[in-house]
Amino acid sequence: MSDKKTFKYTADREIYSAAKVRALEALLIEKGIISDKTVDKVLSFFETEMGPFNGAKIVARAWIDADFKKRLLKDATAAIAELKLPAGMAGAEGEHIKVAENTPKVHNVIICTLCSCYPWPTLGLPPYWFKDPTFRARMAREPRAVLKEFGVNIPADVEIKLWDSSAQIRWMVLPERPAGTEGMSEKQLAALLTPEAMMGVAKVAA
Ligand code: FE
Repeated sequence: MSDKKTFKYTADREIYSAAKVRALEALLIEKGIISDKTVDKVLSFFETEMGPFNGAKIVARAWIDADFKKRLLKDATAAIAELKLPAGMAGAEGEHIKVAENTPKVHNVIICTLCSCYPWPTLGLPPYWFKDPTFRARMAREPRAVLKEFGVNIPADVEIKLWDSSAQIRWMVLPERPAGTEGMSEKQLAALLTPEAMMGVAKVAA
């Protein structure tokens, strides 16, 4: 299949996807497979219990605690379990989380080339564009150009590493701690983090 055919999408494809989801939900309710509360319950869980606020706490801890950072990079799932995060943190697709550390020489980006795998417990539900076949293919082929479109200019001497999440392993990025944040508390540091920074498509601004 040619690229042209594969990537032939209309600008309103998100609206069509949403309509399909609504139709599917209505059908599942009609058939008695889920109740009208099911989807709201799942969404509320990911809005209040599982979300980027968890990832932000993990990154902030790693920034202030070098030993925790070491453990996080070695075995993220175990290190995350040390923190007082909501019950079920290790479930909901977070059974095997891995963390890639940004350094002055390496910039990491997470993708799922196959579909939409994402570290739900630490970053929440993925944004629509993360699941978009055009984004997935282009980020794999020309990450530097795509990052530039996100407003992230990676110098030529910095290596870009892509981490492909799967049904088994979910990746997240440990961004670099920005300069000028030396006096900040763990809570203040956590507030600097965005899901995009922990996906590798943004830098953390102090
Ligand atoms: Fe996937």
